[in-house]
Amino acid sequence: MGIEVGVDRDMKDHSQVALLGLDRAELAELVADLGEPAYRAQQLLEGVYRQRVESIEQVSTLPQQLRAKLSEKGISVGLPKVEKQFVSVDGTVRYLIGFADGQSVETVWMPEGDGGDVGEGSGDAEAGDPQGKLATRGWGRATICVSSQVGCAVDCQFCLTALLGVKRNLTAGEIAGQVLAVLNDQKVSPQHDRINLVFMGMGEPFLNYDNFIKAVRLLVEEVGLAESRMTVSTAGIVPRIADFGQEAIRPRLAISLNASNDELRTQLMPLNKKWNLERLMAAAREFPLRNRERVTFEYVLLHNVNDLRENAEEVVELLRGVKARVNLIALNPGPGIDYETPADENVEAFQKTLRDAGILTFVRRPRGRDIYAACGQLKRTVEIATAPAPSVP
Ligand code: SF4
Repeated sequence: MGIEVGVDRDMKDHSQVALLGLDRAELAELVADLGEPAYRAQQLLEGVYRQRVESIEQVSTLPQQLRAKLSEKGISVGLPKVEKQFVSVDGTVRYLIGFADGQSVETVWMPEGDGGDVGEGSGDAEAGDPQGKLATRGWGRATICVSSQVGCAVDCQFCLTALLGVKRNLTAGEIAGQVLAVLNDQKVSPQHDRINLVFMGMGEPFLNYDNFIKAVRLLVEEVGLAESRMTVSTAGIVPRIADFGQEAIRPRLAISLNASNDELRTQLMPLNKKWNLERLMAAAREFPLRNRERVTFEYVLLHNVNDLRENAEEVVELLRGVKARVNLIALNPGPGIDYETPADENVEAFQKTLRDAGILTFVRRPRGRDIYAACGQLKRTVEIATAPAPSVP
């Protein structure tokens, strides 16, 4: 695994230090500790985060002697590796991304966006692309779905990732590194292409808060991605929602709601016992929103479980007083999950009830179903290798 160092770490011990994950101040400290001039920190910063090099050898601005010195001291870039990739018929690519300790997560590339649940105005594919470069390439924008933990401890009953349990947190470098690895593989850059990020892959970001938020800062300040094009989804870690609202640099907030009353939510998402709907909705109401911002609520519809008219009416009541938008997601089928995909008419009726109550409500298109890349389907390849993939709808 890429070992992340903090400013309080003894910088004289550089064994197995990964540059990826270090911020400007930490790189400055590292460079000073090596007895090198301060501007070397800027060169490393640009090499790692802007040029997205895979090895120190590729940081061409550094003298050969310094590159050798860094390598001798066990300092490496720490860019995670694409171990496998699966390409869907709809263009979605599911990456298995591996770290130095042999653990891996899944990171998903979705060209043309993910159904419009990210930055406001993100559906405007041509804006900022006067030459039509992106259009000629076949996609106007793309979304990368990023993991925050190996597995997940939250245990949502409709989620394949939950079946893994949690193995460990990812470091800030490993979270940001997934994005860099995918940008490299796709040969795109945030300076030229419209890239959205959703922290909705494996894991609960708010249970790995410090590493998640550090990764966000690195991605915004050093890689150059826009925070307005990022969304983080939480299952409802209420104290962290309040902390998150105080961050100077932060993505948009999405809350994975999935149920319209406490009894149902506790059944589907056991963490509701700890932070019930009253506390969750209070946190959502108090969340400090920016101009034109809303809290997104995701609601996975499960056939005859939470997709009925009375559920929709209860959701309308829950969302009173919240500047909300709702993304309805029809359950994606998967092995080991006891729930079924809702009927189309239930999805439509649910949406209509919310819209009639004045709530901005969208139905998200499933992406990459044929390769298990859609929401809740991120499960380690090795564990699904023997299961037959469902056909594309
Ligand atoms: S839905 Fe998200 S929070 Fe819930 S178990 Fe799956 S990965 Fe964890």
